[in-house]
Amino acid sequence: MTIFSRLLLCFVLISFNAFSQKEKPSFQVIPLGIKGGIDEKNLSAYLVAPSGTKDFICLDAGTLNAGIEKAIENKAFKVSASEVLRKYIKGYLISHAHLDHVSGLIINSPADSSKTVYATQKCMEMMENHYFNDQTWVNFGDKGVGFPLKKYHFQTLNLAEETPISNTTMTAEAFPLSHVNPFESTAFLIKNEDNYVLYLGDTGPDSVEKSDKLKNLWTAVAPLIQSKKLKGIFIEVSFPNEQPDQFLFGHLKPNHFITELHVLENLAGKGSLNNFKIIITHLKPPANNIAKIKEQLKSQNDLGLKIIYPEQGKKFNL
Ligand SMILES: [Zn+2]
Ligand SMILES: [Zn+2]
Repeated sequence: MTIFSRLLLCFVLISFNAFSQKEKPSFQVIPLGIKGGIDEKNLSAYLVAPSGTKDFICLDAGTLNAGIEKAIENKAFKVSASEVLRKYIKGYLISHAHLDHVSGLIINSPADSSKTVYATQKCMEMMENHYFNDQTWVNFGDKGVGFPLKKYHFQTLNLAEETPISNTTMTAEAFPLSHVNPFESTAFLIKNEDNYVLYLGDTGPDSVEKSDKLKNLWTAVAPLIQSKKLKGIFIEVSFPNEQPDQFLFGHLKPNHFITELHVLENLAGKGSLNNFKIIITHLKPPANNIAKIKEQLKSQNDLGLKIIYPEQGKKFNL
């Protein structure tokens, strides 16, 4: 081998290594439901696990079974739907108690295995009082009214505190969101080793909500963007720009979404969101509105965001 070819080989190996280092994913995501309304077989629910494990948490649980079946069809799972539900999903993190975020959990609870449901105190109380109350549904929890069957451990999350997620290596930290002020929703910052993903439940923009909750969230995660430890943000955009602000009902539209992400960029540094992965959730039908949202986000994306539209049952990496 000549010196030149040795050097070349060396160079190829080093660049291959650098490339694989950079591309190595931290999390796998399997969306079980992605829409913001009406289509009851496809409502907000996202499975997230550290890469190379089967230890999934489910972020919101609007649709479970229909999404798991779709994922099996797409070969994201090689086991039965029941095994995915009972063994792969280690717990649920619920952002708020609106039915489009919890109906899958309620309906699937008789077939589920014992695990933990995580939510902030207000959200947990709503689920205990209105759903798992032995009247509208059996109390599968371990507290609340009626006769608790103790299948689920209902664990209240304190804000701004890292809570370990049972049977996984992940932790979750909850931040409050404003979803028609003073009604609150939640953002979850998920951590595994030194990598993070951020999931936002439904939220309105600070300007419309007369709130500083998004600003506070952006301030908390900006350092993780600077250090490149944050691998992606799940955030809703429910309506196209034509929706008047007074009829947003605690949701975002492309104008407000871009304004909010500019706030984040200002905190994290100019250019910091270039190629940053943003997963757009909660698009509300009808289909022509969804098409409008996608067009508007594309034309208004002056931050270089890498916008991802999740598909039900289709795995992707972060
Ligand atoms: Zn909601
Ligand atoms: Zn919703």
